[in-house]
Amino acid sequence: MPRQQPDWPTIRILVAQPRGFCAGVDMAIAALDRAVTLFGAPIYAFHEIVHNTSVVAGFEQRGVRFVDDVALVPRGCTIVFSAHGVSPAVRAQADQLDLQVVDATCPLVNKVHAEAQRFARRDRAIVFIGHPDHDETIGVLGEAPGRITVIERVDDVESLSIPDPSRVAYLTQTTLGVEDAARIVAALKERFPDIEGPASEDICYATQNRQTAVLTVAEDADVVVVVGSVNSSNSKRLVEVAASRGVRAHLVDGPGDLRPEWFDGASTIALTSGASVPESVFATVVAAIEQVYHAHIEQRGLAEEAISFRLPIPVRVPAR
Ligand code: SF4
Repeated sequence: MPRQQPDWPTIRILVAQPRGFCAGVDMAIAALDRAVTLFGAPIYAFHEIVHNTSVVAGFEQRGVRFVDDVALVPRGCTIVFSAHGVSPAVRAQADQLDLQVVDATCPLVNKVHAEAQRFARRDRAIVFIGHPDHDETIGVLGEAPGRITVIERVDDVESLSIPDPSRVAYLTQTTLGVEDAARIVAALKERFPDIEGPASEDICYATQNRQTAVLTVAEDADVVVVVGSVNSSNSKRLVEVAASRGVRAHLVDGPGDLRPEWFDGASTIALTSGASVPESVFATVVAAIEQVYHAHIEQRGLAEEAISFRLPIPVRVPAR
């Protein structure tokens, strides 16, 4: 981006609150950090610990090896499961290799696994609303192989083949767009009036809060910039949610992705970040915009979140 000039206009920056790290990401990063400190490199992590390039690169520099196949981990080593969760088959494979497991699965993802197990025990066909290639979806599918069908869109409901429509249940990925998911659930209920759902909402508090916050700032913005990596489901949903209100919305992994032409004619820019994005990365994007414009920054949105999750037992510090 070009550097600021004295006569350039002031631009208003609306910063969404809450944004960035959720409790699950916070816990997973702290768990991996502590595992490296306690056990020393190399530490293995099954999948990216969270879907953010700067976080992953930082851990790689400290000797963490990210693998997508547990078989690549030498017998007896330490492996950290990512926030997105794993299937029972992956756990069994880790056991067979005598791996020390640090399970950093977010408790809210574990809740979805428990629901899948419960519906499977009750002999229900399960419709999982989610993205087929996402680590979270793959982990949940492993809870009841052959029983779960993944759908992504309202149109997918019509083509579903359910053996007994009176014995069907649905679950959702934790990081879906709230409004899109509601439309799909409504279509499922119309086609399968007896369908059962989770006891409480599967789309997590952090996803919901960040989507509500981005809508709040998007209302008054000419353009929305979401900081997040391209493989971050919740970050991409923030872009879609903002764009659903007719606002131009862009995803950037860092300041290098900003394009000056996005801001042509804009007087207000809204900024937010996905649940896996460190505040330090978000700050570099704000700083890059401030180098170009005379920026007036306002925080706007919901109250601060006050949720935290305990570290996994192998890396929990004993009480003194
Ligand atoms: Fe957990 Fe939600 Fe964060 Fe995913 S986005 S790690 S489900 S709190």
